[in-house]
Amino acid sequence: MKHILDTDIKFLTGVGEVRAGLLNKELGIYTFRDMIHTYPFRYIDRSKIYNISEIVPGTAYIQIRGTVTGISMAGTGRSQRLSIILKDSTGSIELVFFKGIKWVKDKISQGKEYFVFGKPTQFRDTVNMVHPEIDSVDQRLATPLSKSLTGVYSSTDKLRNGGITNKLFSKLQSSLLEKINGKIEETLPAQIIRKYNLCPLPFALKNIHFPDDTASLEAARFRLKFEELFFLQLSLLKQKCIRGRLSSGILLPKVGKAFNACYNALPFPLTGAQKRVIKEIREDMISGHQMNRLLQGDVGSGKTMVALLSALLAVDNGYQACIMAPTEVLALQHFKNISRNLEGTGVSVALLTGSSRKKERDAIDAALSDGSLNIIVGTHALIEERVRIPKLGLVIIDEQHRFGVEQRARLRYKSDFAPHILVMTATPIPRTLAMTLYGDLDVSIIDEMPPGRKPVMTMHVTESKRDSLYAFIKKEIAMGHQAFIVYPLIKESETMDYKNLEEGFQQIINEFPAPKYSVAVVHGQQKNQDKAYDMDLFASGKADILVATSVIEVGVDVPNASVMVIESAERFGLSQLHQLRGRVGRGAEKSYCILMTGYKMSKESRRRIELMCATTDGFELAEEDMKMRGPGDIDGTRQSGIAFDLKISNLSKDNLILNMARDAAASILELDPLMESPETKRLIEHLNTLRLNNGEIISDYSEIS
Ligand code: ADP
Ligand code: MG
Repeated sequence: MKHILDTDIKFLTGVGEVRAGLLNKELGIYTFRDMIHTYPFRYIDRSKIYNISEIVPGTAYIQIRGTVTGISMAGTGRSQRLSIILKDSTGSIELVFFKGIKWVKDKISQGKEYFVFGKPTQFRDTVNMVHPEIDSVDQRLATPLSKSLTGVYSSTDKLRNGGITNKLFSKLQSSLLEKINGKIEETLPAQIIRKYNLCPLPFALKNIHFPDDTASLEAARFRLKFEELFFLQLSLLKQKCIRGRLSSGILLPKVGKAFNACYNALPFPLTGAQKRVIKEIREDMISGHQMNRLLQGDVGSGKTMVALLSALLAVDNGYQACIMAPTEVLALQHFKNISRNLEGTGVSVALLTGSSRKKERDAIDAALSDGSLNIIVGTHALIEERVRIPKLGLVIIDEQHRFGVEQRARLRYKSDFAPHILVMTATPIPRTLAMTLYGDLDVSIIDEMPPGRKPVMTMHVTESKRDSLYAFIKKEIAMGHQAFIVYPLIKESETMDYKNLEEGFQQIINEFPAPKYSVAVVHGQQKNQDKAYDMDLFASGKADILVATSVIEVGVDVPNASVMVIESAERFGLSQLHQLRGRVGRGAEKSYCILMTGYKMSKESRRRIELMCATTDGFELAEEDMKMRGPGDIDGTRQSGIAFDLKISNLSKDNLILNMARDAAASILELDPLMESPETKRLIEHLNTLRLNNGEIISDYSEIS
């Protein structure tokens, strides 16, 4: 039987076909369920009159009552404003108007009493109100105080033009609440409600739309956030649980010749973190379950070595391994490094990319089929082409955020069984986000840098210092070091005031003329051979400077490079800046990252540059980035296939609730790992009614199980 919440929204009194169409299109509301879970994004409080002395910034919209004691113009030019001082018996506050000044002036007179309604904001060390509503006492007293907080819902022009005002929307919610009254069952288990002191669902739904008071609103918000995060975590943990139970993994118990030969020939001892991660991977490989592990480690933390040694474990057990990189440049680099490390071990490795010739390809296909090729390195050409890797035991994906979940799933068909999967990322992901994005993966972290790294010194430089910048680079080159100079990607549509690579390249060549200096250039428009040639010039030390677009962002390793100049740095995101900076400081030399910007910068750009100069900790930057941009914009989350249409919780702010919700979800599955009890079944059923939008992840692993 259909639940009342699944009723089409057009059947709600006051909606009908036309408005239903608008609600579908503008707000994605199709059913009663969608409607009731469309919450106000803020509340206004006309239920009380605040004392001026008790006002703090950031509160909801509030009202105050007072006498105007001053009216004056202040500031000049664009910051010119009308300033009105309002006083009550407890204090005074400034009301500020940048627009409609004449209108306000005509309406307000000194010495008279008014009601003011607005949102207090912090300005320097005082609190003011910008563009509040002002009513005379007579006007205001004509309308009675509303009894409670009033919700404000998101809207669009089309909705308003279609007659769906905030007032009507509220009314619809109210009649919906009446209609479903007594028909909403509790969605959470009783013991969890008790343990976390959650209010009942009907109470929460009523109060999120029509709060009785602030305390009830807070209780409602807490409950609904908890519930949202609980089901999100439950869906992720459920996948993990099923996988652990059903998917058998290939057993790779032997540590043999290949691993030991390479390990013993390493030019350096592994760091403690590298050893720990290899142990974690090995445990997965002998567990009998398929490994799905995410390896997080800052740029330069030595993930490649971990990848190689893991691949050799597969080889030692008679299996093949494949290592995928997001770009050809990177694949080539991995191939070279790995080849070097494998010299004399008898393990074979080949490179396959989009630009591999037919003949090479055929040879590789043959060697993969007959098992004589142990390790294959490549780009996503490996997935897209019909390459068969019959004894594929381990798949390693480097820089995961470039690969979608779907691409990962396709790897499944390379062999006749499910290979172990290791995903490596150098984009540190804040813990809360990692739990949500990768809650279904096991996570390993390399949190220790190889010894001898000196933190990269980061400086912010503007155009007027360009000459001294060049002098500095020359000094570094004279000491035998190399420099990167990176420009934002060129797109035709973008305005010309940004340095484009070509101009920059010309300028650099003029400044660093041949034959004294040698400058290489790498960008996305180049042919692959040219790119590889110039890359090689720089990597081998024949070129002093590499001028590049952000193609070099990921992975390129040139330990001798000591300077990273980032042009128009204000155009890059934090994680991108951090990735770029990670290209230097790989050798023992003191290294520098120089962020070139224009004089004018937005507040956010300035903040990013400041943060970059203040810390080299990738996790700290990632946390900040998430706070500044919100989780939906963090690199990688969009392609990751998980929902960010969280309705009420905020991953960067609701940390504590997330932890509780995760514990609660875990406790359910711990008690009932087979998901057989009626209680758990009910939860899973409810989960299926939610549009969590993570179907991709589910298909990813249900394939495997
Ligand atoms: P990542 O891929 O994590 O950014 P890499 O694997 O490219 O980092 O390693 C960066 C550099 O550090 C490489 O030149 C590598 O040879 C070196 N390296 C890796 N592990 C160690 C270690 N334990 N001690 C010293 N150097 C190391
Ligand atoms: Mg790497």
